[in-house]
Amino acid sequence: MNTIHILGFPRIGAQRELKFALETFWRGETGSDKLQDTARDLRARHWAMQREAGIGQVTVGDFALYDHVLDHVQLLGCEPARFGFTDEDEITRQFALARGEDKQAHACCGATGTGGERRPLEMTKWFDTNYHYLVPEFTPSTSFRIGSERLFAQVDEARALGHAVKAVLIGPLTFLWLGKEKAQAFERLELLDRLLPVYGEILARLKRQGVEWVQLDEPILGLDLPAAWRGAFESAYARLGGARPRLLLATYFSPLADNLRLACQLPVDGLHVDAVRAPEELARVADWLPAHKVLSAGIVDGRNVWRTDLDAALEHLQPLADRLGERLWLAPSCSLLHVPIDLDQEQELDGELRSWLAFARQKLAELNVLSRALGGGEKAVSAGLAAARAALASRRSSPRVHDAAVEHRLRTLPRDADHRAAPFAERQRLQRQALGLPPFPTTTIGSFPQTRELRAARASYRRGDITQQAYEGVIREEIARVVHRQENIGLDVLVHGEPERNDMVEYFGEQLAGFAFTRNAWVQSYGSRCVKPPIIYGDVSRPEAMTVDWTAYAQSLTEKPMKGMLTGPVTILQWSFVRDDQPRQETCEQIALAIRDEVADLERSGIRVIQIDEPAFREGLPLRRAEWQAYLDWAGRCFRISASPVSNATQIHTHMCYSEFNDILPAIAGLDADVITIETSRSDMELLKGFGAYAYPNEIGPGVWDIHSPRVPGVDEMERLLRKAAEVIPGGNLWVNPDCGLKTRGWGESEAGLRNMVEAARRLRAG
Ligand code: GLN
Ligand code: ZN
Repeated sequence: MNTIHILGFPRIGAQRELKFALETFWRGETGSDKLQDTARDLRARHWAMQREAGIGQVTVGDFALYDHVLDHVQLLGCEPARFGFTDEDEITRQFALARGEDKQAHACCGATGTGGERRPLEMTKWFDTNYHYLVPEFTPSTSFRIGSERLFAQVDEARALGHAVKAVLIGPLTFLWLGKEKAQAFERLELLDRLLPVYGEILARLKRQGVEWVQLDEPILGLDLPAAWRGAFESAYARLGGARPRLLLATYFSPLADNLRLACQLPVDGLHVDAVRAPEELARVADWLPAHKVLSAGIVDGRNVWRTDLDAALEHLQPLADRLGERLWLAPSCSLLHVPIDLDQEQELDGELRSWLAFARQKLAELNVLSRALGGGEKAVSAGLAAARAALASRRSSPRVHDAAVEHRLRTLPRDADHRAAPFAERQRLQRQALGLPPFPTTTIGSFPQTRELRAARASYRRGDITQQAYEGVIREEIARVVHRQENIGLDVLVHGEPERNDMVEYFGEQLAGFAFTRNAWVQSYGSRCVKPPIIYGDVSRPEAMTVDWTAYAQSLTEKPMKGMLTGPVTILQWSFVRDDQPRQETCEQIALAIRDEVADLERSGIRVIQIDEPAFREGLPLRRAEWQAYLDWAGRCFRISASPVSNATQIHTHMCYSEFNDILPAIAGLDADVITIETSRSDMELLKGFGAYAYPNEIGPGVWDIHSPRVPGVDEMERLLRKAAEVIPGGNLWVNPDCGLKTRGWGESEAGLRNMVEAARRLRAG
């Protein structure tokens, strides 16, 4: 049998126990003892699952109350001095670092607002996942020491439960890479010399505790690294010698490519590679790996929810097993943090679909079958292999997966289906005639406050306590109220407020063919916050209109243009679990066609302005730059397929949240949206400079109000931001709007902010 192991396990709990324990603790309803009890129970349970699956060494150190990068900040003793901690205990400091005093988090991209003096550590996405980590802060005076006993205590905890332990740490270079410099003229890589001795001490202590293996995660080996960082690997790892456990260097998410030889040759005892994202590299790694090292093959997809094709996996692994024998280990491609915990909880999913899936727990069982099969025990696992084979066969041939009409439509889609009839200048003239908007037109990003009443009505409707008619009555009333309010405030382009939507992807997914929804398949996004991504299992199509009734109703209440509000294909793709039996591009094109139909129907019903939100457009960028252009090409085409069925006089908007756009501006311009609204207020319009320098051709609404914080900016402040924007964007192309939707705000702030915004626009019009 080949050794099996995992890189990490979801920590939130099958019933989101950790989430609830954290939230009651934060509300002050329980003490930290209770929270720690829950955490300990979860760890024990998750280790037991690993052991049941035949894992010899359970993984310790992957658990975190809030975030594992934050835990490393404490372990490595580098909490930023600006927090001014004195004698607070570890858990108090931990949540101050994570949440600061400003508990407003960004609804769409997870970033936290700026807030008071002790603003929390910045949050950002973990590589190309939807998990957010807290960003370590480095200055020339940052020092390191063992600052927490937590890891060592958890090792003891696991050992006391009778488990052999493999500890996991973020490697020193990845840890530095993930952080940010908070001082000028300073490179965080300079801190490496100071950091390495602390890693050395940690490893020595783990060794003394009886830990045999330590997994050091260095996923940055899958990135395009600057030469200095690449160069630092060799000497850094040479310095981790001495009395230490054996080291397994773990890479994931991306091919090693030009770092492959480097990764193979570092002075460690084993290398883990992601055989799902880079299947072709596995054999090359085996060629380059020195003969004493372990090769851990990440063969089970840790980023998706599908059952593994075990036959294909065995075919891939067998030659390696023949060559490497015991030195071949099997694992999921990456930490299982990114998948839900247990499929057994999804009893409401129909049996056929369920048979196609594997969540974290089921993936452990798959590893077990693979390892036994490789060990010559194919007979013993024949039932497991047969079940996987049958599931795969059913998935391949199911009429629920394949829709000939969708496939035909895509194949025969004209090449120019992603082009508007006329160029922008011509469209702009026609739209100005048709819409009759003032200069510096005002609008909002779509959602208005989701009040408690609205949420309660939706919950009752879902439970069956109120009829569809009653629920729709509530929504209609809300739309009427929202339209009336916007007219009162004096906005130019109105929205219906999205009261019928709980989530911008779920709302559409629920109405599209090819999507499934789970009850309990939560995945941690950050802290206690979880998401439940839909599962796209089949060809996507739109059985009927999804938003037309609500939008047309809203339009019927006003003379002003009502903006139709849709989520774009790239964002729907990006925030779902997607098929692994066809390229992402193809799934995205199918979604694009469905949205295109909706756009056409909205226009037909009299809607003249349509917004297609793409907040996830940038986060879809591949980790390797060499792959960017291909992504931008198909993602851009998908957006344009959605946006292009309309006449020239119909105005297409898009919205993106906080994003570094500068390196992809040609692609953003290539979307050819008539208007783009982006988040810029937090950076004081700095983000806009790139648009100016690039001479962004179309109209643009740089947000003048950071809606992620409860603070409402005054008229002067918004006016100043607008004038600053007007320095780089031709005035005739400027729109006036908040940064994002108002869903998470209250009505008081929303109304006050919008009134100020309308007044600021009036001042600009006055000159
Ligand atoms: N239209 C959406 C809203 O206003 C956009 C949300 C987002 O950007 N994530 O809520
Ligand atoms: Zn947004």
